Amino acid sequence: MTSEVADSTVENVIGTYSLPLGLALNFRVNEIDRIVPLAVEEPSVIAAASSAARLVRRSGGFTAQTLGNLMTGQIELRGVKDAERSIEALIQSKSTLVETGNAAVPNLVQRGGGVRELEVRDLGRETLVLHFQIDCRDAMGANLVNTVAEALGAKVASIAHARLGLRILTNLCDQRRVLARCRIALADLESTDAETQANSSAGLATALAIEEASNFAAIDPYRAATHNKGIMNGIDSVVIATGNDFRAVEAGAHAWAARAGRYGSLAEWHVEGEYLTGSLELPLALGIVGGTIRVHRVAQWALRLLGVNSASELSEIVACVGLASNFSALRALATEGIQRGHMSLQARSVALAAGARPDEVDIVAARLADTGPTNEMTARTLLDRLRAAKAERLP
Ligand code: NAD
Repeated sequence: MTSEVADSTVENVIGTYSLPLGLALNFRVNEIDRIVPLAVEEPSVIAAASSAARLVRRSGGFTAQTLGNLMTGQIELRGVKDAERSIEALIQSKSTLVETGNAAVPNLVQRGGGVRELEVRDLGRETLVLHFQIDCRDAMGANLVNTVAEALGAKVASIAHARLGLRILTNLCDQRRVLARCRIALADLESTDAETQANSSAGLATALAIEEASNFAAIDPYRAATHNKGIMNGIDSVVIATGNDFRAVEAGAHAWAARAGRYGSLAEWHVEGEYLTGSLELPLALGIVGGTIRVHRVAQWALRLLGVNSASELSEIVACVGLASNFSALRALATEGIQRGHMSLQARSVALAAGARPDEVDIVAARLADTGPTNEMTARTLLDRLRAAKAERLP
């Protein structure tokens, strides 16, 4: 994004802020090969997603489906004296309200989108909330929903004999969910650890350890938070690379994870016959048009690279990247621990932070990974030694 575009996008601009952009490989989603751009500063996210995708690919690739494409807007109604009568009146006025809502977004209606459903929830304390479901086609839809909410507000309040409260979308867009699935052959999960291998047949021990780790996340919110963070490592990185709103995606994902009244895990893994199977379900409000995408050249390029033709197609790929990230994290945790792989990738950035020049980074990183600990002080010592050895060799 240029400074000029940034300046007209937000306030008090002093520059732009960049992140590494990398490509996750090996992804096959619904029988189509995809190269996936990820914008992320955390080492190992791209490598982890790519290596999981390679294993999944050997068993046929990911499948994903969009479960609904509807965003939800809320209109809050206060001071409701007779909730039953107000609800009845609102439901009776459904077709007028749908018409009024659609009149506010004619271009969307022309594209085949628009308001679809209405429902009213009684929150108690003389408060109702009207939800309207709207198909935003290929846009994320926040502004579209808010436009409709504001257009409908006064009419809704008048029909319900209530005071008008807030009018805005909900980021818990549970009518716009994605379900991603994959399986990995147990034979492809063979451990490199001799003891584990001796006690297992063809990766069964690794698969069972991953299933146990998944069960742990299902019953403990403290573990579920970290389990889900690993999923969002992959998801947010693609969301950012494609110019989408990662705060909206995060808010929706965590609210969905807590829908049962207790925070839980978004993805689960089970051993089924000769396979480890994984599934991930979450709300995803993503667009391939509108918002920042209109002006962000890299986001536009990222969408072209992905080759997606609809917001749903993008969401399906994004969910698969989340599932891949989750698999790699669980596999590492359930076998050798997360630090070995993580720290060897972290070594390059530690070497850079210690002052290594580009021609020195790989050498210092390799020595750091061998000797450890992977910290800046050790990196500086190794760098000094490298430079001293080079100086000695000079004539
Ligand atoms: P938007 O305002 O850019 O609207 C989408 C535009 O794309 C519309 O003008 C529509 O007519 C056009 N369009 C072109 N082709 C289309 C197609 N095939 N399908 C659908 N629309 C098409 O963007 P938006 O998607 O309504 O809102 C997204 C923005 O809102 C993001 O930047 C987000 O950060 C921001 N936002 C988010 C929240 C929230 O999540 N709570 C709140 C407010 C704003």
